[in-house]
Amino acid sequence: MSDQDKAPRPMKVLVTGGSGLVGRALQQVVGEEGGAKDAEWVFLSSKDADLMNPEETLSAFLEHEPTHVVHLAAMIGGLFHNMRHNLDFWRHNVIINDNVLQAAVKVGVVKVVSTLSTCIFPDKTTYPIDESMIHNGPPHETNFGYAYAKRMIDVQNRAYSQQFGGRFTAVIPTNVFGPHDNFNISRGHVLPGLVHKAYCAQKEGTPLVVWGSGRPRRQFIYSLDLARLILWVLTDYDEIDPIILSVGEEDEISIKEAAEAVVEAMDFKGGISFDTSKSDGQFMKTASNAKLRRYRPDVAFTPFKQAVKETCDWFAANYDSARK
Ligand code: NAP
Ligand code: GDP
Repeated sequence: MSDQDKAPRPMKVLVTGGSGLVGRALQQVVGEEGGAKDAEWVFLSSKDADLMNPEETLSAFLEHEPTHVVHLAAMIGGLFHNMRHNLDFWRHNVIINDNVLQAAVKVGVVKVVSTLSTCIFPDKTTYPIDESMIHNGPPHETNFGYAYAKRMIDVQNRAYSQQFGGRFTAVIPTNVFGPHDNFNISRGHVLPGLVHKAYCAQKEGTPLVVWGSGRPRRQFIYSLDLARLILWVLTDYDEIDPIILSVGEEDEISIKEAAEAVVEAMDFKGGISFDTSKSDGQFMKTASNAKLRRYRPDVAFTPFKQAVKETCDWFAANYDSARK
């Protein structure tokens, strides 16, 4: 039978990192909204296959034979985890990405959506950052291992598209938070860290200690909003060049304001203090969502305070089983 005689395979989406913050949000959104609703979805965790291992990776792809892949799996952590483990972040992510993209080619996947991050952009830059600036200079010194590894996905996407013709692309989210986040205080990101610290401080009657000066600025995106946008990218975005998925520049806030939102959501009365002996990390990485808005002028985001409240409520209700 010639290739032309073969019927196109029904859409089957394999999600790597399906058990993480973004993966769980995608599970919820697919269930609720049925985006790509006729597709079959498979959500993988590290228990299904260690994606550091090329044989395990290929065998998972051969078992499921996906037509589409959302590649979320990564070694990921907050500023302080990155500062201590740049080598691990580099190696894990380069190896995972190479194994996943190569396995995708081997089983004839037609589209892969991988995940970069706005923290991989050059440290010394003009603002706002846009999609054309990924490779314009060294990343911030605190997370260079993660940043360079993630930047290579963009290189791989262009090379795979050139040599094999597949649609391998990437999304670039800003700081993500939501239910099922990693609430580990020393390894996780700022928002889940603040939620966990405020929860403990409330119990112990101590102040909430914010690390650093509280002055750095971030754009936060709720995991469920991000998941809806990833679904759209999977079905409707046809470029190889990546796309920033972010709230607007006007919604950038300071770490202090993020801490105040957590305090308000938890009705925490213990006060906030700042430990300025800890690093501030990158001061800002303000990203433009103009490209997203060109494609999706209708795009709407959950109000930050509402999303923080939902995350705090989820953490309190799931304290025993939450990652912490
Ligand atoms: P997460 O909650 O830490 O989840 C990581 C996922 O990767 C988990 O499902 C984990 O599986 C899986 N994984 C890790 N190592 C693996 C391995 N060796 N083999 C197989 N699976 C492995 O991460 P996330 O926050 O959802 O991030 C998803 C993606 O978005 C990542 O690529 C990240 O770089 C990107 N991103 C995240 C943020 C953010 O603020 N969180 C911002 C920008 C971009 P287990 O559950 O089994 O461990
Ligand atoms: P980044 O956005 O990639 O830099 O990573 P994070 O999500 O870890 O945010 C780091 C910023 O939040 C820095 O300015 C930290 O000083 C500040 N921060 C304040 N408290 C915390 C905390 O409890 N955990 C983390 N990870 N960062 C904190």
